[in-house]
Parts: sequence; structure tokens; C-alpha cells
Amino acid sequence: MQYAAARGEVWKYYDLGHGFCTNDFWAHCNHRMACARCPFYRPKNATMDQLIEGKANLVRMLEFVKLTEDEQLLVTEGIALHQELIEKLAM
Ligand code: SF4
Repeated sequence: MQYAAARGEVWKYYDLGHGFCTNDFWAHCNHRMACARCPFYRPKNATMDQLIEGKANLVRMLEFVKLTEDEQLLVTEGIALHQELIEKLAM
């Protein structure tokens, strides 16, 4: 039997509450406020419903709320980020 570390797979998970950081150097990371966009970030399975709900709320906002161009851009980016995380969980 070969362990995950020996197979070059992720084996260390730092609990961030909403997800896990798989970076061995988590304690020294300067980007902790941008975890959702980080390749080391793994959302928890328990957050799937929240991600789907959050994405649906943003889509509804885009469809029904009169937004400025900057607001539309931010909401669109939020939708894309939610989708990325949903797909990361589905893998
Ligand atoms: S930004 Fe990435 S490396 Fe840094 S704490 Fe968040 S998940 Fe870990």
C-alpha cells in the first residue's frame, strides 16, 4: 500500500471553515483572503448547497436588478467563481 504523499497526491488539509487549504505552507500564505480563486483551495462538500444557492441569487440579481456596469461585472465574476467551485466539488 502506498500513501497519498508517496503517490504525489494531496495529503495535508488545513481547515478554513468553508473549505480546506492543501498548501503545505498555509501558515505563511499572504493571499488568505483570496482562497476561493486559489488552486490549493478545496471547498467542503457541505458547501455545495450554499454555492448553488449563492449562484442562483447572483443570476437572479443579474436578471432582475438594475445594476451599473461595474456592478454587473462584479456579479458576473461572482457567478463564474461559484460555478468554478461547484465544478471543483463535482470532480
Ligand atoms: S490562498 Fe490558497 S494557499 Fe493561501 S491559504 Fe488560501 S487556499 Fe491556502
